[in-house]
Amino acid sequence: MALFVHKYGGTSMGSVERIKNVARRIAKWHAAGHKIVVVPSAMSGETNRLLGLAREISPFPDVREMDMLASTGEQASSALLAIALQKEGVSARSYAGWQVPVNTDSSYTKARIVSIEGTKVQDDLAQGKVVVITGFQGVDPEGNITTLGRGGSDTSAVAVAAALKAQECLIYTDVDGVYTTDPRVVPEARRLSQISFEEMLEMASLGSKVLQIRSVEFAGKYSVPTRVLSSLTDPLISLEIEMSSGTLINFEEDGKMESAVVSGIAFSRDEAKITVLSVPDTPGIAHSILGPVADANIEVDMILQNQSVSGTTDFSFTVNRNDFKHTVDVLRNQVIPAVKAKDLAVDEKVAKVSIVGVGMRSHVGIASLMFKTLAQEGINIKMISTSEIKTSVIIDDKYMELAVRALHKAFDLDK
Ligand code: ADP
Ligand code: ASP
Ligand code: MG
Repeated sequence: MALFVHKYGGTSMGSVERIKNVARRIAKWHAAGHKIVVVPSAMSGETNRLLGLAREISPFPDVREMDMLASTGEQASSALLAIALQKEGVSARSYAGWQVPVNTDSSYTKARIVSIEGTKVQDDLAQGKVVVITGFQGVDPEGNITTLGRGGSDTSAVAVAAALKAQECLIYTDVDGVYTTDPRVVPEARRLSQISFEEMLEMASLGSKVLQIRSVEFAGKYSVPTRVLSSLTDPLISLEIEMSSGTLINFEEDGKMESAVVSGIAFSRDEAKITVLSVPDTPGIAHSILGPVADANIEVDMILQNQSVSGTTDFSFTVNRNDFKHTVDVLRNQVIPAVKAKDLAVDEKVAKVSIVGVGMRSHVGIASLMFKTLAQEGINIKMISTSEIKTSVIIDDKYMELAVRALHKAFDLDK
């Protein structure tokens, strides 16, 4: 009999009825003799509701207090799940992050897990209890509550699985696995029974929010077998069927040699593009522009600098749309006067669309098919970036869904 970590997302925990179903599912695993640690998210909508309340009071609330606030969603759902398990006749105990403890650094709202103390949990498991640990939250060295960034319960679950050396981490969600692209945007998207670790990492980092990127990084670093599967099936389906359902992240190198060149399409609507116009093309210019942006704790994504003809050039980059106004402020106040740039050109509503596949390493013409497909749809490409296993483009946000659908078809992902 083995130890498994289950993670249930917001929709899966979205109502009392759903929580009861989660408890029935866990009771089934427990009755089969397995040790189970469960990591629930807040009930769907709850984190947004809490953050919204704070923003009604202040546009820039203190981040420590935001974590104090946001973490309560997971505390409530964990207690409700423990109560539901007890009602099912299963001995269960819930813990907040600080009680385990899940130790993090002090970067409020985006803290990183440093270590997890497993002793208390192992003791409870040894006594036959199901242990419920709040997702999304931890505690910093001073005892302050921290949270791990939106979607962070995935990371909590994989980190707990790594710390306890679980046999598998099962991420239960409202889709039955990882698809070739978001099935909400492309109904023809297909579920992948396996995805390579590298591809999953790219998909997550390029915007597929089915898994938080840090959870995939943890899975890779500690080789945690991780599976994405549905929480919306009959909770009493046979364990054997459930254990082989969904999508398994595959860590074997070359695990995907035979399959499609492009495995999936990721997209992100939350991008903004900024161009600093007419900057002198001299050594150090990239640092002069992006240094102050980095100092303001703003993450830059794609960067583009062209050859200069007359000694000056335009310098473009993208940031998360939430950081757009802040970035423009930094550029106008600090950068433009310092580098003697002419002005800024801004594009607040752009989207990033990416094709991902380990097969791209060994095939040519993939990017060119992407560009041709977008051209046929009349979609203008504003920026391009490539790596070994992905090609990303920045396009006008209003064409994002059209682009994703056209590319899904062009790369035969629906077949
Ligand atoms: P949870 O609340 O369980 O953490 P999320 O909403 O964070 O669930 O993630 C699941 C959602 O991710 C799905 O409902 C789906 O719309 C979206 N998604 C985006 N890209 C993909 C993909 N490639 N495969 C499956 N789901 C995807
Ligand atoms: N409740 C948190 C969020 O909404 C964490 C999670 O669901 O994974 O982002
Ligand atoms: Mg999620």
